[in-house]
Amino acid sequence: MSSNAQHVVAIFGGAVAGAEAAEHLSRQGIKTVVFEQNLLPFGKIEDGLPMWHVKLRDKEEQKIIEKLNHPEVFFVPATKLGRDVTFEDLVQNWGFSTILLATGAWRDRPLPIPGVDDFIGRGLYYQNQFFQWFNHAHDENFTGQKCEIVDDTLIVGGGLASIDVAKALMMSTVQQALAKKGIEMDLLTIEKKGPAQILADHNLRKDDLGLKGCTLVYRRQAINMPITPIPEDADEKRIQKACEVRRRMIDNLLEKFLFKFVECHMPVDKVIENGRLAGLVFQKTKIENNRVIPLEGAFNEIRAAQVLSSIGSIPELIDGIPAKGSMYAVADWQTGQVEGYENVYLIGNAVTGQGNIKKSRQHGIEVAKLVAGQLESREKCSPQQVSEILARVGARQKKAGFDGDLPAWAKKHTPNRLENSL
Ligand SMILES: Cc1cc2nc3c(=O)[nH]c(=O)nc-3n(C[C@H](O)[C@H](O)[C@H](O)COP(=O)(O)OP(=O)(O)OC[C@H]3O[C@@H](n4cnc5c(N)ncnc54)[C@H](O)[C@@H]3O)c2cc1C
Repeated sequence: MSSNAQHVVAIFGGAVAGAEAAEHLSRQGIKTVVFEQNLLPFGKIEDGLPMWHVKLRDKEEQKIIEKLNHPEVFFVPATKLGRDVTFEDLVQNWGFSTILLATGAWRDRPLPIPGVDDFIGRGLYYQNQFFQWFNHAHDENFTGQKCEIVDDTLIVGGGLASIDVAKALMMSTVQQALAKKGIEMDLLTIEKKGPAQILADHNLRKDDLGLKGCTLVYRRQAINMPITPIPEDADEKRIQKACEVRRRMIDNLLEKFLFKFVECHMPVDKVIENGRLAGLVFQKTKIENNRVIPLEGAFNEIRAAQVLSSIGSIPELIDGIPAKGSMYAVADWQTGQVEGYENVYLIGNAVTGQGNIKKSRQHGIEVAKLVAGQLESREKCSPQQVSEILARVGARQKKAGFDGDLPAWAKKHTPNRLENSL
């Protein structure tokens, strides 16, 4: 390991945003140390994006490995900021030139109903845990928290991820019901053809299997679902056309995946039965000037076997990093610069919790460019500082059992894939 005077940037989180920033900085000759809490740096590509996106997942994971597999990038697995390294220690003692937090958004936005979280695991699940499990439910080595798939689940949502939840639940409940009839069908085939077609192929309907199906409830209208983008400068005609497309896409999804959809309902209270969450009370709404207006006295109780909340993700807060309420305190939302620290930035999903692969990638590059520019006029780490950082990095790599060969490490630790077991 060379140790000339050099800039060394710490990146926490090695997935889409982190790997992108690491690659950009390493191309500028800046060393980066990429700390990742898990063994593998795949983040939501592995544990969020539903496992039926096989090609997209494999392509993105390969890209991450290629970007991190660079002589100027030091990958450190199994190292969590806030657990294995404290933020205070990081800023005071490690001596990094800049710190990038590409830690994503792994906390579910809580359902806005007092006391409802007491029922987690007793009729209530949240989306992040659900997809972490769903993506690996076939893998006997999966050690995370399990979820239960049951018919008649009520999903609270509205974003793209909540549609994926509805799809996953319908695929699984149809698979289970078919299995009871002696018909074995894998989830990837069910997703491709759609549960409706699979049932039609066997001359069956949902009712024949005794299935009610799950219900997705949204506080806005179907046309407000962000399934196709509407440009900010779109005129009235274009908006109308996009809304028609959105409505048609929702109708197609309902027809293909057999779930139900209730619009203009916002959750306001819980229904408890025998110590379990047995449904939710909703208040009906109307949408005016893009605002959700609750309708006075218009309540509707929807009972269900369980509730799955999919109303968005927010960053997990880390001790010592300034926060405002449930979010990090950010001085500049464009760059993700953390309040009070001129050299600490949040990148990718960690900034707002929202986004997609493209946005995380773009944000990673933007901030890396900014940082590379700033570092040109800043004092470099001395050779001694560089070797001290690298010695600590080596110690952590050794603790994790990582020998520096990332492609081999990734191969060894990649979970069992469903498609390989079919
Ligand atoms: C259900 C679902 C469906 C989706 N579908 C699509 C889709 O079809 N198309 C699309 O473009 N996008 C989709 N997305 C979104 C996309 O997966 C994410 O926006 C993107 O992968 C986020 O990348 P990121 O690098 O910003 O964050 P993450 O992927 O969350 O990466 C954060 C990394 O930081 C690590 N980390 C977290 N905390 C710490 C810590 N304290 N210390 C060290 N490491 C830490 C994590 O382990 C992780 O590796 C979907 C997401 C979900 C949930």
